[in-house]
Amino acid sequence: MSDQDDEKTQRLSIPENKVKAAARRLGVTLEQMDQFFIASGWSEYKCEVCGGENFQLGLYDGHLMPLSVPTSASSNHALWVVHVTCVNCANVKFISVPRLRELLGKPADGGVD
Ligand SMILES: [Zn+2]
Repeated sequence: MSDQDDEKTQRLSIPENKVKAAARRLGVTLEQMDQFFIASGWSEYKCEVCGGENFQLGLYDGHLMPLSVPTSASSNHALWVVHVTCVNCANVKFISVPRLRELLGKPADGGVD
C-alpha cells in the first residue's frame, strides 16, 4: 500500500474511541444479538429478493455499528437501527434499536445498563 493509500484509509476510518462509544450507547452485545436472532425467528429468515439465508450483521471493527436514520420532520431526530445485509444480493434489512432494546428488557431510549 502506498503512503497516499495509507493516508486515505486513515482519513476514512472511524476513530476507535467513537466506535466503542457508539457500541456502549447501543448497549447490546453480539451475544445478545445472536440470542435475539434465534428467539425472534430472524435466524430462520430467508431473503425476500433472492431466497438467500446468509446475512451479514452491520459491524465496524468487530463492534455493532447502528445507523442513524433521520426523520423527515427534523434532522435533529433520528431512529437508530442495526442493519443486516443479504450476502447474496445486498438486500438490507433494518432492526429498530429502541424496539430491540425493549425486547431484550432494556430501556428503549438506549444507554449503558
Ligand atoms: Zn438476498
